[in-house]
Amino acid sequence: MNACRIDGCESRPRPGRSLCRKHQKRIARYGDPHFTQWSVADEFDVDLVVRERRPAGDLTRLERVLVARGLTDRCVPGEEIARIVGVTPRTVWRWRAEGFKQAA
Ligand SMILES: [Zn+2]
Repeated sequence: MNACRIDGCESRPRPGRSLCRKHQKRIARYGDPHFTQWSVADEFDVDLVVRERRPAGDLTRLERVLVARGLTDRCVPGEEIARIVGVTPRTVWRWRAEGFKQAA
C-alpha cells in the first residue's frame, strides 16, 4: 500500500491521493506540510491518540493539552498521560491544576 508522500509519515492516504489527511489539510491551510504552531490542533489526531493511548511525537502544544484533557476525562493516570503526550508528569499535573484552559 502507498504511504503518505511526506518523509517519515506512515499514515495511509485515501485511495487516489498521495498525502494523508493530516498533511493534505496542512498544505491546504498553510502551504507547508510541516507547519505546526502551538495553537493549531487537529481534532482527528487528538481523538486518535486519546482513543488508542499511543505515544505520539508529532503533536502541537495545543494538541498535547487536548490529548491530556481527553485522557484525564477517561481517568488515565498522570504518569501514563505524560508518557503518551511526551511531557513530564509534573506538566500534566500543572495542566490539570489549571483546568487545561489556561494551558491551551
Ligand atoms: Zn502524512
